[in-house]
Amino acid sequence: MVVGHGMVGHCFVEALRDRDLDGRWHITVLCEEPTPAYDRVALPCYVGTWDRGTLALTGNDYAGDDLVRLQVGERVITVDRDAHTVTTSQGQEIGYDALVLATGSYPFVPPIPGNDLDRCFVYRTLDDLDAIRAAAEASEPGAVGIVVGGGLLGLEAAMHCGCWV
Ligand SMILES: Cc1cc2nc3c(=O)[nH]c(=O)nc-3n(C[C@H](O)[C@H](O)[C@H](O)COP(=O)(O)OP(=O)(O)OC[C@H]3O[C@@H](n4cnc5c(N)ncnc54)[C@H](O)[C@@H]3O)c2cc1C
Repeated sequence: MVVGHGMVGHCFVEALRDRDLDGRWHITVLCEEPTPAYDRVALPCYVGTWDRGTLALTGNDYAGDDLVRLQVGERVITVDRDAHTVTTSQGQEIGYDALVLATGSYPFVPPIPGNDLDRCFVYRTLDDLDAIRAAAEASEPGAVGIVVGGGLLGLEAAMHCGCWV
């Protein structure tokens, strides 16, 4: 079982399928996001096209491969290492023989009061960008956006400001 379907989870599945010539392993992939593995590094390219397909990693749906079962929108919430099971946000309990956590990372949000308020976003997923876009579209003309963090991603987000609507 693979938990997480980012670039690493997808590469892992492909590498395992390439090596498992006898087809011994049945692979279940549980993906928290609603979209199968995409090129997160190219996320800024989503702004303006709003076409998720352009970022899709090749072969990310494992079409025609009966040994891989991909479930999107399924977050693992507990792992029972004794019982060799995981439970998911959808209430499923699924058994495994080997478990690979390819769960990536999360953006660090400084503990600033108010950081959980409405219209306060992070910049990591396609859904994040859709949420920022929806907020921009709902704003009055002349509304001001603030980017906190002036690293590469912060600058990219600011650069795309004119493209959100
Ligand atoms: C806009 C942007 C630009 C970037 N540019 C660069 C760059 O130029 N160069 C570079 O080296 N890196 C860059 N990075 C970082 C790079 O994207 C990450 O290092 C890379 O995505 C890591 O891949 P991953 O598969 O390990 O994790 P992730 O891409 O984070 O994927 C992990 C997946 O697991 C899912 N997941 C997490 N927990 C669970 C759970 N409990 N159950 C089910 N699923 C779960 C997550 O939702 C996610 O879909 C960039 C990141 C962003 C956001």
